[in-house]
Amino acid sequence: MSEPITESSEQLLKIKEPVTEQDLKNTVFNSNIEVGIYRSKELVVINGTENEIGMTADKTKESSFTYHSHIPNHEFTQIADSPSFSDIFSMGILPNKNHFIGHQEGITQFRFPDDEDQKDLVIGFLRKKGIGFSYSRGVRNGDLTDIDKIPLETQFVLQREFSDTSGIVVKRTPWEDKKGIQQILDLINS
Ligand SMILES: [Zn+2]
Repeated sequence: MSEPITESSEQLLKIKEPVTEQDLKNTVFNSNIEVGIYRSKELVVINGTENEIGMTADKTKESSFTYHSHIPNHEFTQIADSPSFSDIFSMGILPNKNHFIGHQEGITQFRFPDDEDQKDLVIGFLRKKGIGFSYSRGVRNGDLTDIDKIPLETQFVLQREFSDTSGIVVKRTPWEDKKGIQQILDLINS
């Protein structure tokens, strides 16, 4: 049983192999920042910020999975149970990989089909709603409202709609589904 590599000395959560349900719950309920987990020879645990995780394609390319937490914001009624548009932009070039997000209600599993550019899909989806995405590779927003001006809670709703209609969500597993959570742990620990 080896200690995971940590990218930051401010590591708040001790996560050892094998990763347990409580470890994953701690990344959601007992952390004030997003926590990411992937495997690059050994288990790697990284710290993000309240709303961001530095989980990029180049860092995680050797891993068969990525996991990160979305921590609760108690001022919001909406739950960030879907990949954020930033998640899609930072990880969207990793096809056929198991991606997981731990959130208040459970774990959302998603995948990127390798025959579509998810970035273009996101930009097209938002444009239809009159929203411009600032990461859109030099595309001018023109009359579109910049995504940064849209309240975070509304962004959660849009992210859920995009995730469900684009088909990138494979499964939403509630914490109460012990068998489902165990299947996710098996993927993470294999
Ligand atoms: Zn995220």
